[in-house]
Amino acid sequence: MSTPDPDCIFCKIVAGEVPADVVHETDHSVAFRDLSPQAPTHVLVIPRSHFPNAAELAAGEPDAAVDLFHAARAVADREGLDAGYRMVLNTGAQAHQTVFHAHLHVLGGRTMGWPPG
Ligand code: C5P
Repeated sequence: MSTPDPDCIFCKIVAGEVPADVVHETDHSVAFRDLSPQAPTHVLVIPRSHFPNAAELAAGEPDAAVDLFHAARAVADREGLDAGYRMVLNTGAQAHQTVFHAHLHVLGGRTMGWPPG
């Protein structure tokens, strides 16, 4: 397992040092509601381990990367997103990644547009 980053807000959520509205947990992942929701359902699924993005997570802890998707499906089922949902992995600043701890956005409950902005 990678070392937590003491300056990382998502590491602090995993450690319980910063509150979050947690909706689902597994051995590898924690899912919580985004503080600034962009859809009726907007949940972030994050690995417990600190990796800067999902690609690095997949390289470093493949089981945890797979678990991220299992957890996302569990969230979608629990939230009743039967009509569909979007999973987003912003990777890098130009892609609007703002928190550099891997996270999978699960968005649903409204019709999505394409292409994303
Ligand atoms: O993909 P990106 O890095 O832009 O997404 C980070 C997300 O983390 C944002 O949607 C932001 O609202 C969310 N966030 C949060 N709780 C925090 C800090 C950030 O839900 N304490």
